[in-house]
Amino acid sequence: MRIAVFPGSFDPITLGHEDIVRRAAPLFDQIIVAVGVNSTKKSGFSNEERVAMLEAVFADLPSVKVQSFSGLTADFCKEVEAGWLLRGIRNSSDFEYECTIAQMTKKLSPNLETTVLFTKEEYSSISSTVVREIIANGGDVSAFVPPAALEFIQ
Ligand code: ADP
Repeated sequence: MRIAVFPGSFDPITLGHEDIVRRAAPLFDQIIVAVGVNSTKKSGFSNEERVAMLEAVFADLPSVKVQSFSGLTADFCKEVEAGWLLRGIRNSSDFEYECTIAQMTKKLSPNLETTVLFTKEEYSSISSTVVREIIANGGDVSAFVPPAALEFIQ
């Protein structure tokens, strides 16, 4: 089985995240969207809310599972027997970051392969951080968030 883990905060899921998963779906037998408990980022939505939003967005894709996890991503991958990590890249700063993480992951887990997909141009400026800011200030995020997730926000 080709199992990939797509780890992230997904706080909340955006059209950019959704697009990465949908484009990667044909490449793997199963994709586990893994909601990490991130201690450094200021969280907007609870773990349960983030999982519920993701499950609603990917309800039509039987090969996509949603799980939350804490601890090292590499350890979680071992636990679920994933051979691939999936990440999305928007720009050169994402590239720098993903490159560093991928190289360190390779040292920790030589059998785990990081795969990256580049974002579509129209999603390259979408970030969860900015979406949270807009929500906090009562703005409309329907251009940035999948419709199924929007229902949880409104
Ligand atoms: P993290 O806290 O690990 O950065 P995120 O939830 O912000 O988690 O993102 C998860 C993954 O999705 C990362 O690889 C990130 O680069 C990617 N990503 C975030 N926003 C977009 C977007 N608009 N288009 C494509 N990929 C994205």
